[in-house]
Amino acid sequence: MTEPNDAWRTLMGCVTPLPVEPCALDRCLYRFLAQPVLADRDIPAADRAAMDGYAVRADDVASAPTTLRVVGEVAAGSAARPALTCGQCVRIFTGANVPPDADAVVMVEDTTAPFDDAVTLLKPAQRGQHILRRGENARLDDVLLPQGAALDAVALAVCAAVGCVEPLVRARPRVAVITTGAELKQPEERVGVHEIRDSNGPMLVAAVAEHGFGPATCVSASDDFKELLLALRQALGTATVVLVTGGVSVGKYDLVPDVIREAGGTIRYHGVAMKPGKPQLFATAENGRTIFGLPGNPLSVLTGFHEFVLPALRSLAGCPETACRRVLRLPLLTGVTTKGRQLHFLPGRLVQTAGGTTAESIPNAGSADLVAGSKADGMILVPAGVSSLPAGAIVEFRPWRLL
Ligand code: AMP
Ligand code: MG
Repeated sequence: MTEPNDAWRTLMGCVTPLPVEPCALDRCLYRFLAQPVLADRDIPAADRAAMDGYAVRADDVASAPTTLRVVGEVAAGSAARPALTCGQCVRIFTGANVPPDADAVVMVEDTTAPFDDAVTLLKPAQRGQHILRRGENARLDDVLLPQGAALDAVALAVCAAVGCVEPLVRARPRVAVITTGAELKQPEERVGVHEIRDSNGPMLVAAVAEHGFGPATCVSASDDFKELLLALRQALGTATVVLVTGGVSVGKYDLVPDVIREAGGTIRYHGVAMKPGKPQLFATAENGRTIFGLPGNPLSVLTGFHEFVLPALRSLAGCPETACRRVLRLPLLTGVTTKGRQLHFLPGRLVQTAGGTTAESIPNAGSADLVAGSKADGMILVPAGVSSLPAGAIVEFRPWRLL
């Protein structure tokens, strides 16, 4: 039996980031940067108006009301640099460059315009008001996104803003899912009382896609050595990461470990001191392929996916190790108890209270209880050796969804 931290170290030691490739911005969502993204110039590149109004010399508007002559106009996108002198101002619009002679902008709401070429300013102006200074957000060559950053919507906006239209990113792992079990039927098939519908397959395909690693392939195989071996060989032919559910324990029909060996895989750990999900298996194969064996019960599958599989996918895709397994630290809304000494994962939901976000454990009938799982936002971690925690205790919470 492997300790969870040792399994983690083994896993992280075996997954090395995939090759670097340039990627067009519109295909970069969910990728991880393999380069830092720098400011290609000062941001903003010039002093800019932050309001629609009038660019003035603050000294002219030391007291109010004051009437100035309007001697020009600068709209956003205009390269005009109209000169102004004592008693003069320029009509200006948000995002336009402030003329070199002006040092304040008075917003249009604080003015009245008695004539087309004159404006009365109703409030005194302070030097610098309503001007975004050149370089105020960032200076040329400042690092705006570090290497390893995830390219989400706002990060993509930053790339676009600095003209980084084909950033270097890491290749994304391709995932294949194999569900196993003689009892499995496809969701659309009739099921006898001795059979179940395959829910792990759709769940894993969706979980992989939800975190930006789709589309994954998915097949089901019976508890038959040859059938499993064929499915695994085919999966290893196309995918970087193969996820097998079921058949990974120690029963007569748990053939997956032997099938992995037969396919040339090297098992790096099998059996992790955690509940649920103890039979966890991780193996490496030729050409940098990796294989995860996840015990068949749905909550065990989810636990293994979020503890090991998703962090490995993120790490392969270039996410730094420290960021590839997300965790929240939250107080418990109600106390929890566990049986046994190993690390426990309790399905939990996030509850907003007046004091902030808390985690509440969801009553469940064990790792087969997908119905309880469907009410959860993630898992509450109860450390090894701890059998009860009171309300208010700070726990680690593994979220199942993107944060
Ligand atoms: P196993 O790990 O193969 O012993 O399976 C453990 C439990 O998970 C058994 O009750 C299986 O019926 C159930 N199970 C296995 N595969 C699936 C699946 N794809 N969808 C739902 N339940 C499954
Ligand atoms: Mg089985």
